[in-house]
Amino acid sequence: MEALLELYNQMGISPAVYEYGEKALAGLTERFAQIDKIAELNQAKVIAAMQKNRVSAACFAATTGYGYDDVGRDNLERVYADVFHTEAALVRPQITCGTHALTVALSANLLPGDELLSPVGLPYDTLQEVIGIRESPCSLKEYGVSYRQVDLLPDGSFDYDGIKKAINEKTKLVTIQRSKGYATRPTFSVTQIGELIAFVKSIKPDIVCMVDNCYGEFVEEIEPSDVGADMTVGSLIKNPGGGLAPIGGYIVGTKNCIDRCAYRLSAPGLGQEVGANLGLMPALYQGFFMAPTVVAGAEKGAIFAANLYEPLGFRCVPDAKESRHDIIQAVELKSEEGMIAFCKGIQAAAPVDSFATPLPWDMPGYNDKVIMAAGAFVQGSSIELSADGPIRPPYAVYFQGGLTWQHAKLGILMSLQKMMDAGLVEL
Ligand SMILES: *Cc1c(COP(=O)(O)O)cnc(C)c1O
Repeated sequence: MEALLELYNQMGISPAVYEYGEKALAGLTERFAQIDKIAELNQAKVIAAMQKNRVSAACFAATTGYGYDDVGRDNLERVYADVFHTEAALVRPQITCGTHALTVALSANLLPGDELLSPVGLPYDTLQEVIGIRESPCSLKEYGVSYRQVDLLPDGSFDYDGIKKAINEKTKLVTIQRSKGYATRPTFSVTQIGELIAFVKSIKPDIVCMVDNCYGEFVEEIEPSDVGADMTVGSLIKNPGGGLAPIGGYIVGTKNCIDRCAYRLSAPGLGQEVGANLGLMPALYQGFFMAPTVVAGAEKGAIFAANLYEPLGFRCVPDAKESRHDIIQAVELKSEEGMIAFCKGIQAAAPVDSFATPLPWDMPGYNDKVIMAAGAFVQGSSIELSADGPIRPPYAVYFQGGLTWQHAKLGILMSLQKMMDAGLVEL
């Protein structure tokens, strides 16, 4: 391994940082093996769905214009529906991002006078304008959809009493965010989400339960759609795109909900019949095929990061030992300087744009300044190695992705090196 050490040294990683990393890694063999086991199951799930739906070269052909009878697109949606065990799926490059997918799911299934309930506290930053928690033209609030929220209890668990009280005759849809987003609460397991859905439906059976599944796909053996979610929603430039999808979002769920989503995305009457694939099918199929192993690599990176930073006195969420339900690792770096140094390291380890210097900026949709490190083949892709976070206490950087475990490892070592270089940690 002398060649590796020498190369790392040339790249700026000191022997001390490398050795510290190797020590942390030695204790992780068992956990990494468990992750590989889950990846094996999810890989088999995807292959079985592709075989069942007879995926062939014909599915990879480009279509343009209206996209009527788009075999590749329609079949990809059946593959998604089979993997998530749902009646239907909407998987489209015309869905521009995760926020868009969630917006389609919400606005298609909420009518004026209906109420939306979040039983898990404040939703992800960009959804606040969608809902109207922060004012915006075309928010759900502007269309007469009211919003109610029940915060988590101080220990991070669901406030079942509060939720029961909040559900009323207007409550139409419950939105459950699986991943922590830019919060430092724990991410929910699919089992926990299932318990929450069962509770909500025991009070009012016809409530539509939607799960924001961003960053959660393929981390566990089951998905929210396996535990009663009517709609499960995510972005293709996160987990299920496997790093290859250049754009897109998905919504899987009941036929009734997905039909409405399709009418909202295109037009009433048109629904899923239109939407040319623009030649993106090879990337969307192959990305979905790669996704289980890519997610496994990203998860190993997240665990490695926690096991590197926690012993140095930085709070990590999840902590170094905890079980994982998404690929995000929050590391509280205690200062703006810490966030900048960490992000510089991630950037410096990237295959693309490694020469760039990440700086805090005012990003649309976010309330505080945000810093982002990303040197990605797909711009903004956060299944590729990336780190970001709003500049506000506790100065947590949210670290995620890595198309390969080896790249994730290099990025984390480099982040630690930059922290050391800035005098913010000592080994
Ligand atoms: C990424 C993310 C979204 C959507 O974000 P986009 O940047 O629009 O794709 C929504 N919710 C959560 C929890 C997320 O992590």
